[in-house]
Amino acid sequence: MALDLLSHIDARPSEHRISEVERLARMTNPGFGKVFTEHMVTVRYTEAGGWERGLLQPYGPLMLDPASSVLHYGQAIFEGFKAYSQPDGGVNTFRPFANAERFARSAERLAMPPVPEDIFVEAADALIREDKAWVPTAIGESLYLRPLMIATDIALGVRPSHEYLFVLFASPAGAYFSGGVKPVTVWISEDYVRAAPGGTGFAKCAGNYAASLVAQRQAKSEGCDQVVWLDAVDRTNVEEMGGMNIFFVYTEGGRTVVVTPELTGTLLPGITRRSILELAAELGFGAEERKITVAEWDAALKDGRMTEAFACGTAAVITPIGRVKSRHGDWIVNGGETGPVAVKLRETLLAIQHGLAPDTHGWMHKVC
Ligand SMILES: *Cc1c(COP(=O)(O)O)cnc(C)c1O
Repeated sequence: MALDLLSHIDARPSEHRISEVERLARMTNPGFGKVFTEHMVTVRYTEAGGWERGLLQPYGPLMLDPASSVLHYGQAIFEGFKAYSQPDGGVNTFRPFANAERFARSAERLAMPPVPEDIFVEAADALIREDKAWVPTAIGESLYLRPLMIATDIALGVRPSHEYLFVLFASPAGAYFSGGVKPVTVWISEDYVRAAPGGTGFAKCAGNYAASLVAQRQAKSEGCDQVVWLDAVDRTNVEEMGGMNIFFVYTEGGRTVVVTPELTGTLLPGITRRSILELAAELGFGAEERKITVAEWDAALKDGRMTEAFACGTAAVITPIGRVKSRHGDWIVNGGETGPVAVKLRETLLAIQHGLAPDTHGWMHKVC
């Protein structure tokens, strides 16, 4: 067992690596979240001892007692960020400290202990270095990192757990959309809400997703790809699209403005969202965070002021919205086509992530 006293993680890597032929076969059209690398990192927490030293070990099943509190009361949070192959053959991650910070805020909301940011980032770095061969090299492809934390007390009493397990594993991700970015059709959900004031909307917790699945299924049955969430109180303000943030593009008198719903506590504060707001301003677009209602969306499309709509998140980067359906109507956005602002923002972000454009914001973290 290699022991590096300066780090928080010990390494006990697999003695049985899969062949290069097999690895390359698995990495061909990996899709999203179906293929995993050969290792994972685990770090245990106890109330008495705090965070223990982590362990990099072969990827495999976790053993959980059936009474583990996560299985009953759902103290479970996760994150998602990506590592990108660089022109010099190295690998960089995109804004991992922002994910570490958000992970800590999610933990706090679920009465869980925050994982120190250095442990969070070091776990990812150690895993990426060990499984570097699994980082795809083509533009648009990446290694998706999935950190998570669960409550592991063996007890059925309802209270915050005293013990937790932090796990980080990785999955090679193809270009989310093979054959170009295809606009999606969205269903505006009026029957279900994702998050309510005072709830867990801003936290990346498993329960938010569990609660969203029935709405996603309804969207599918209405012939749509994704659900659009409205605010829980008035059901008028647009909040998010599925597990992504949403943007609207206005073009008036030759000026382009990107607008995204303001963070109210019920929205998930996306790191892609934040990055796009910064890039938009640099590209000469206006950038606004404010409320936007369904009625405004409809009206601005009809009078031609709104020229595009798109969603954004780590997994797919930018997904254009081509059509909007609800019980009250059916609208087309930008003729159902991907618009130039979505393309420009997507290309700008991807160029920074792949090291093809200067990283003027200090967003990229060098791993190896
Ligand atoms: C993760 C997530 C996002 C996107 O966040 P990124 O940091 O950009 O990946 C948006 N909405 C929800 C509900 C999410 O869970």
